[in-house]
Amino acid sequence: MTSTPRDAAAVVLLRHNANPANPEVFWVKRNENLAFLGGFHAFPGGQIDASDAEIEVANAPSREAATMISGAARELFEELGVLVVRGGDLLTNGQRRSLLDDLESGRMTWPKLLEHYELHLDAGDFTFVGRWITPPFSMRRFDTWFFLVNCPVKQEPLVVPGELSSGEWIAATDGYERWLTADITAVPPTLHALKTLAGGISPDLVDRFLSVPQAHGQTVNRIEFRPNYICFPVRTPTRPPATHTNTYLVYNSEEILIFDPGSPYEEEQRALAAGVDELRAEGRVVKMIILTHLHPDHVGGVNALKKHLGDEVTVAAHEETATAISEVPVDHHIQDGELIALNGEPSIQLRALHTPGHARGHLCFHDRDRGVLLTGDNIVGLGSVLIDPPQGNMIDYLKSLDRMRAIPGLTILLGGHGPAMITPYQKIDEYLNHRLEREAKILAAFQRGISEPAEIVAAVYTDVSPKAHAMAERSVIAHLEKLAAERRL
Ligand SMILES: [Zn+2]
Repeated sequence: MTSTPRDAAAVVLLRHNANPANPEVFWVKRNENLAFLGGFHAFPGGQIDASDAEIEVANAPSREAATMISGAARELFEELGVLVVRGGDLLTNGQRRSLLDDLESGRMTWPKLLEHYELHLDAGDFTFVGRWITPPFSMRRFDTWFFLVNCPVKQEPLVVPGELSSGEWIAATDGYERWLTADITAVPPTLHALKTLAGGISPDLVDRFLSVPQAHGQTVNRIEFRPNYICFPVRTPTRPPATHTNTYLVYNSEEILIFDPGSPYEEEQRALAAGVDELRAEGRVVKMIILTHLHPDHVGGVNALKKHLGDEVTVAAHEETATAISEVPVDHHIQDGELIALNGEPSIQLRALHTPGHARGHLCFHDRDRGVLLTGDNIVGLGSVLIDPPQGNMIDYLKSLDRMRAIPGLTILLGGHGPAMITPYQKIDEYLNHRLEREAKILAAFQRGISEPAEIVAAVYTDVSPKAHAMAERSVIAHLEKLAAERRL
């Protein structure tokens, strides 16, 4: 089951008196410690409050639009201290700060605050520029309305460190350039806004914002966390909380690599084929379909895609994977250390790393020039990694994590499920520590005389819902195998 997106609003804030040919916009950086899109660049915004609907917004085209505008105005005020209201021209900076304090301390609700100071919102100050829905690869999903807003003359946005770590004015072309050079990571609507504003402020600006179907709530399935790397989530019969597997399309001017076309569902296969065809229509050919490992949610769409592309397309995987999936013919066995290079521009070379643990034939792929690591199911952006013997092996898994940890210069992890992770070493350490903590607890339980895996689960996995206990039992068995092999039991 995919979670229902929650209503949210965000503001693309334009600087007063900026160059219309290359306007400046205020972007913020999300705190790196946030579980959801930590470290990403974004625009101020957030979830709609129930009280947002209580406010009258002059000239709003509908009640729904009024609520969204109210939420956008409130979020902008809470996150950056910028208050876009009518009737507030005489407020001093100090007064605005005390208003913000009233709001944040809960002394006054947003509707009460506007009423008390005789301020009102006007839809004319908030130009609707799109409605984007978070792709279904995330547990937290939003149906976000974006508004273009001019920053009032005498106000200067200020980020209070917390959920956001910083914020700054940036020329749209510079922001877009920083994405092109892999200096920042942003979600599709942010990127689209930067690209659109980089085209300058012209009479057709709003039309350009709204020119893509994703700006009207249509599924976003082409997510570029890095240039030349498309994350394309497809619905699969995978392990909750994940509902989708990330297929990756890595491409340059001439060739395309397709990783893990995992969906067995026809509709999803058609969507992926259409995505691949878009790249092919621009003159590229598919070099290879590559499988990170054998699990059904990573290989379920290979045969259909191969049929679509023509049988000459090579399917490649580790030998351990190839021999385990008789239903999917594998043409090429990828060895540890093998270099897969694309013909064309820019140069893209991926080094295969045999990283067993989650599965015996598990492969990761490292792009040294860009610091990108495709982690398959060894590290994921959503949910946890199951180590299920005999395919799963805890000794191998921890060794593989160590090996990944030792790769220098990583800037991003692209996992088999969930959003990208842009604090690679922090993430890998989290995984290592988590496993070692569990192991210490399992060992302690064992030493207290609890030896049945199910009983160990009950004693150790107190933070995990009983629904997940069967899975946890597999992990306990994997840990016990490791401890036994290390003669620690
Ligand atoms: Zn898997």
